[in-house]
Amino acid sequence: MAPKGGSLSKVVVVGAGPSGLLLSILLAKQGINVELLEATEKLDEQPRAAHYASPAVYELRRAGVLDDVAAKGFKPNDFCWRKQDGTLIAGMSFAALGPDHPERMVVLPLDRLGKILYAHLQRYPTAKVRWGHRVVDIGQDENKAWVQVETASGPQKVEADYIIGCDGANSQIRRSLFGDMSFPGETLDAAIIATNVYYDFTKYGYWDTNYIVHPKNWHMVAKIGNDGLYRVTYSEVPGLTAEEYRKRQPMRYEEILPGHPKPGDYKILNISPYKLQQRCAPKFRVGRFILAADAAHLCNPFGGLGLTGGIADVGSLYDCLMGIHRGLADDNILDKYAEIRRKIYQEIIDPTSRENFRRLWDQDPETAREKDEFFQICHRAEKDEALAKELALGLNVLRHDFTQYYANKSSL
Ligand SMILES: Cc1cc2nc3c(=O)[nH]c(=O)nc-3n(C[C@H](O)[C@H](O)[C@H](O)COP(=O)(O)OP(=O)(O)OC[C@H]3O[C@@H](n4cnc5c(N)ncnc54)[C@H](O)[C@@H]3O)c2cc1C
Repeated sequence: MAPKGGSLSKVVVVGAGPSGLLLSILLAKQGINVELLEATEKLDEQPRAAHYASPAVYELRRAGVLDDVAAKGFKPNDFCWRKQDGTLIAGMSFAALGPDHPERMVVLPLDRLGKILYAHLQRYPTAKVRWGHRVVDIGQDENKAWVQVETASGPQKVEADYIIGCDGANSQIRRSLFGDMSFPGETLDAAIIATNVYYDFTKYGYWDTNYIVHPKNWHMVAKIGNDGLYRVTYSEVPGLTAEEYRKRQPMRYEEILPGHPKPGDYKILNISPYKLQQRCAPKFRVGRFILAADAAHLCNPFGGLGLTGGIADVGSLYDCLMGIHRGLADDNILDKYAEIRRKIYQEIIDPTSRENFRRLWDQDPETAREKDEFFQICHRAEKDEALAKELALGLNVLRHDFTQYYANKSSL
């Protein structure tokens, strides 16, 4: 029997990555009891997301964290694509939105975002964060769902009305629901190395974010801090070990970056290789278990659709759970969540992120300016303010208003 709408006694969120922390804040802020289970003892510090586009900004604002995120980070001015010699191919500016537009993109490295989210979550007495709690198995019946958890003090069983898998690319919740091998999609035939580095790109006339179009040496250089910190994400040959990639890094930097820097010319803070994956879970809901963000879907990072799409899931799920909690929706609204969020991945996130990646290497940089349709739109937007605004807020297509499915909107 499907659970009916009505006050939720507890929601368990698995995974204290950005999606799990944000969902926990949104729910706890409304007085819902949330228990957040995290396998590790601390927040992740790897160089991953840094750019949060308009749909993510909308949810960061609803969670009450946007001001802190903007204060620690910054709002970038522009994006561009260049040839390897630095020649500009096309660019896109956020200027048309004005400096104070409420949904303007913010930039802050993920580890710094995590600290802010965790600090906010701790303010809510209805939220409990359990570090060192690794989910190993799941179960559910008509009235509740549960997870079996390994902790330093022995195994535990944790129950809730709903359990949300925000446990990332290797999600145990997804594996338990569909099997270890069932994450349909593909690993792309490419490898990237993400580095956080201090190196002065401004003296080469670089914009805030720069994509370099090249068949072999494609890469991205993006300002990610006000203190001169940049993210350089560059192409590598697939299949090497992390140690082999680390050894090759000075050679790759010298080969591809402006000024051909040697190790003493820059300071690297983090370096990490990543595979590029396009994958989507068979379903985003099975009974009282729901998947969100990387646990539900993966895409390559070019264009910053990964976590932005994940945060859009979180906002959607929050509205669905609030509808149930307030008695405005029955739990069929979670089927809508599962159906629509999966469709958004398949019809927008997957094809757009693939195209963003392809644009970097699968065209001649000498003719890209004329031949690439997206670059043509960027050129038109330079003289057309309405088009420039539309481009700057283009990722709002990832949002979907689930309150439209509430039975009684007037009591909102
Ligand atoms: C190089 C790179 C750059 C990127 N740049 C961007 C960008 O600019 N913009 C953007 O939107 N996206 C970007 N992304 C994607 C983004 O980083 C991810 O989509 C995002 O981090 C996923 O967040 P998450 O909360 O879903 O999962 P995660 O951050 O992976 O968090 C999952 C959490 O679950 C925990 N966990 C796992 N298993 C268990 C278990 N069994 N029990 C309990 N806890 C568990 C993990 O320890 C972890 O803390 C980038 C990715 C990469 C690799």
